[in-house]
Amino acid sequence: MTVDTEGPSTLYARIPASLKVQLDAYASSRGETLTAAVTGLLARGLELATDLIAIEDMRARVATLERQLSQAQVDVAQAEATASALRSREDQFLTLARRAERALGPCPNAGCGKPVRGIDVLLTQQCPSCGGGLSSVLVGQTKGFNQTELLILLGALGILVGAAYVASKSGK
Ligand SMILES: [Zn+2]
Repeated sequence: MTVDTEGPSTLYARIPASLKVQLDAYASSRGETLTAAVTGLLARGLELATDLIAIEDMRARVATLERQLSQAQVDVAQAEATASALRSREDQFLTLARRAERALGPCPNAGCGKPVRGIDVLLTQQCPSCGGGLSSVLVGQTKGFNQTELLILLGALGILVGAAYVASKSGK
C-alpha cells in the first residue's frame, strides 16, 4: 500500500445525518476530532476491504483444491478397485496352476506310460518324460486318463481367459 507523504488533502462527502450523529459520538467518545476519527475509520475500512478481497481469493483457491482432492480420491478408489480385481484374478490363476500340477494319467505315447500333469496337457502339450505329444489326450482317446479333471481344468481356464478378455475390452 502506498502512503501519502505529501501532507493532508481535502475530501468533501455528503453523508446521511444519522451517520454524522454516530461519527460525532464516536469521535467524542475517543476524544478525537471528527477529522481524525473519520480518517482513522476510513484507513481501517480500506484495510479491511483489501483483506476481504484476499480472503475471497483464498476461498476460491480452497474450492479448487477441494475439487482436485475429491477427484484424486475418486482416482485412488478406482485404482484400488482395479488392483483388487487383478489380485483376485491372480489368485484364481494360482489356484488353477496348483490344480494343474496334479497327475492326470499315464502318457499315451508308446513305451512311456509315465504320469503326465494337467499343466503338460494344457501348456506344453508334451510329455515331460518322453517328449511325445499329448494332443490325443485332449480328444479323449487315452485309457486311464482322468478326463473329468481335465474337463474341469479346461473349463476353469476358459472362464479365466473369458474374464481377462472381458476386462481387456473394458480397459481394466
Ligand atoms: Zn511320455
